[in-house]
Amino acid sequence: MLIDGELCDAASGETFATHNPATGEKIADVPKADRGDAQRAIAAARTAFDEGPWPHMTGPERAEKLRAIAQLIADNASDLSEIESRDGGGTIRKASLADIPGAQSAFEWFAQMAETRPDRLELEGSPFPASENYQRYEPLGVCTGIIPWNFPFIMASWKIAPALAAGNTSVLKPASFTSLSALRLAQLIAEADLLPPGVLNVISGPGGTVGEELAANPLVDKTAFTGSTEVGRRIMQLASGTVKPVTLELGGKSANIVLDDADLDQAAAAVLWGTFMHGGQVCESGTRALVQRSIYDEFVNLLVERAAAISLGDPLDMLTDLGPLVDRSQVETVERYVALGREEVGDPLVGGAKPDDLAAGLDPNAFYRPTIFADVDNKARIAQEEIFGPVLCVIPFDTDDDAVAIANDSIYGLAGGVQSGDLDRAQAVAARMRTGTVWINDYHMLDPKRPFGGYKQSGIGRELGTEGYDIYRQVKHIYVNPETKGRDNHFHYAVLSGNI
Ligand code: NAD
Repeated sequence: MLIDGELCDAASGETFATHNPATGEKIADVPKADRGDAQRAIAAARTAFDEGPWPHMTGPERAEKLRAIAQLIADNASDLSEIESRDGGGTIRKASLADIPGAQSAFEWFAQMAETRPDRLELEGSPFPASENYQRYEPLGVCTGIIPWNFPFIMASWKIAPALAAGNTSVLKPASFTSLSALRLAQLIAEADLLPPGVLNVISGPGGTVGEELAANPLVDKTAFTGSTEVGRRIMQLASGTVKPVTLELGGKSANIVLDDADLDQAAAAVLWGTFMHGGQVCESGTRALVQRSIYDEFVNLLVERAAAISLGDPLDMLTDLGPLVDRSQVETVERYVALGREEVGDPLVGGAKPDDLAAGLDPNAFYRPTIFADVDNKARIAQEEIFGPVLCVIPFDTDDDAVAIANDSIYGLAGGVQSGDLDRAQAVAARMRTGTVWINDYHMLDPKRPFGGYKQSGIGRELGTEGYDIYRQVKHIYVNPETKGRDNHFHYAVLSGNI
């Protein structure tokens, strides 16, 4: 772990094991922090903020450090990709093409934000009484980040980079299934001596103790959480004790709408990629495919044929499409939902089982085949609840109005897709979807330059983009009376009239 500039174990010396889900083999013993360790990390971040140079450095000075971290990630990309793949079960293809370069580009983007977003905005003054006015943008203070297991390295960068870029100090807690890549990043940064002590702290440990401390502790000024909606509600409760701002990036059940004028090959690719990437363990996965009735049968046949061809296997092989889920327990969750789907809808058209043809040495109980249920009623639980596995619900619709109504009939509002040959029609549908992102004729196209976040119970606030930087800053208005003597300030009720 990294606390106050020092690489350390938990004070108790306790550890927990982390495993490679593909094979079941133990990879490492990870420090198991407790509340005391979390309090030490928060205290270090507090001191680094209150007394340290970091919040007082200029944006370009901080940007230089962030770019150095981005370079460190690039220099260690192959090592980090392997750690990410082995610890979380995602494929090495995903780790080396998306996760590691994605984190690098997040540091680069927020470096650019620190260089270019102004710290001061001049406001209109007034002649009578004479005044000068401006806004200052200031860091919030100590920002904690709590992240899930599905994209551990990218999620770490989305919490650390904007917080540090804006002049805050940070304490990050990765998920227990996948602590290794964030801990390795902390180690690389500490060994390169890139940051003043306490500016970045990374601690591993259980959500119920360490995570709760990071959300509730009164020395913390902001908590950014990515994870399930259920835990997100708890984070809000904990943060309310000291009225902390929270950013919440929560669950989803996104709709991918296929209109009858879509190119069916392209749309099928977008639906399969949109659902099964990383085994469906993606918050914004398009796990409900809404398909217009006139193309429904043909399109469902295409999906089934192509889903059956997705390859499962060793995640360290560049040719593998899908590795294991993060843990056997996640496979059990998927099995429970597939059993429920059989009751609610009938047998899936493809999948619905663990694979029986894996290479020797791979754990079949950690894998699950891409599964498609057709003719699903949007009210069914498998269409309403986040499964977080490779399960697609296909739902027919008649008109564009129906598609929008079904898409919006969800407690979630994270993302969605529209597949269509008519860009005007697609954009009219996209505008009516109550979600934070819509991809037209594509899916999953995230980029640090573009804001990301949820409507409804998918979250509060935005990460990435300029919004994802500004959310880490306070706004202060300064009013200056240039007359230093003689003005009678009492009772000038013009104050609220808009005329000063
Ligand atoms: P989770 O909510 O179980 O855990 C997320 C993190 O919270 C972990 O670090 C965990 O240790 C911690 N935690 C657990 N209980 C806590 C508590 N009481 N107080 C404080 N922290 C606590 O989620 P998960 O299973 O790791 O990840 C899957 C979920 O994450 C899915 O719901 C998925 O949609 C969501 N997710 C959302 C986004 C997004 O950007 N919207 C991105 C990725 C994942």
